[in-house]
Parts: sequence; structure tokens; C-alpha cells
Amino acid sequence: MLTEEILWPKSLIVRQCLTLIVPRNLSRVESCYLKRIYASTVEDGKQITSGDLAKIFNVRIPSAIDVLNKLEKKMYIKKEKYGYITLTQAGCEVAIELLHAHRVFEVFLVNSLKMKSNEACKVADYVDHILDKDVITRLCAYLNKPMKCCHNRTIIHVGCGAKSK
Ligand SMILES: [Zn+2]
Ligand SMILES: [Zn+2]
Ligand SMILES: [Zn+2]
Repeated sequence: MLTEEILWPKSLIVRQCLTLIVPRNLSRVESCYLKRIYASTVEDGKQITSGDLAKIFNVRIPSAIDVLNKLEKKMYIKKEKYGYITLTQAGCEVAIELLHAHRVFEVFLVNSLKMKSNEACKVADYVDHILDKDVITRLCAYLNKPMKCCHNRTIIHVGCGAKSK
């Protein structure tokens, strides 16, 4: 009985933290793959394979396939004919949300904190998938719903509740 009482609040805290901090249970690497697949296939209209992703992230192909298998298990991507990778509807939604957070955060780092855009991108990669959605919405409103990030990429505000000033 005593152990149960001690364990119960702890497990409650863990569960709350997980939903708050890692809402989609995505690792940094998985998020980077999703963002890249979306940018290539949807924004740039280019097909992408595991080999391309391995090159982009400077890893061996089996490592890239490992990440892709995890994303496929979570139903965020599909492997098509000839090794082309596409996003599922759920994958698209997550990628859009991640890129919104990523690019809004980049704008904050560059415009407000005067960081260089490549440094800002690296920092944003570490936080875009763990930042609370409400924080991003507030940051987006604070920055007056920016249209573009520092790399001239369009910021899509789908699902973003921020109001421009
Ligand atoms: Zn970036
Ligand atoms: Zn950017
Ligand atoms: Zn927004």
C-alpha cells in the first residue's frame, strides 16, 4: 500500500510531463526528417529517398532507414515505389506544426536576439518539437505573425491561434 502511494503521484507527474513536453513523442532526429521530407516533397516539389536523407543528414543509409522505419511505425510516412518517401496526412500535419514552431523560433532568434540564421536554425532544431504549442502561439503573436523565416521560407500559420497586431 505504501509503495503504491509513493509511486502513484510520481507516475502522474511523468505522464503530465510527457504530454506537455513531448506531445507527439518525436525525437529531435525524427522531427528533422519530417521537416526535411515536407520541405522537399511539398514545398520544393522534389521526390526524396532514404539515400537523399542519408546524404542530407550526413549519416549512413541504414541509419536513415532506421529513422524512417520509426516514422513509418508512427504512421507519419509511407514508402512508395522506387524508394520514394511521402508523408501521410498525419505526417503532413505534424510537419506543418513543426515547421511553424521552427521558423517562428528562428525569426525570434534572428530578429530579437540577433543570432545568425544558420545558428538560429540549429538551435530551433533542438526546441521546435518540444516547445509547448501555447508558447509558440504567444511567440508568433509577439512577432506579429511573420510571413517568412530567415531563410526566406514561408511560415504557414495553419492551426496557429496567434492574432497579428
Ligand atoms: Zn531552420
Ligand atoms: Zn528557416
Ligand atoms: Zn503562427
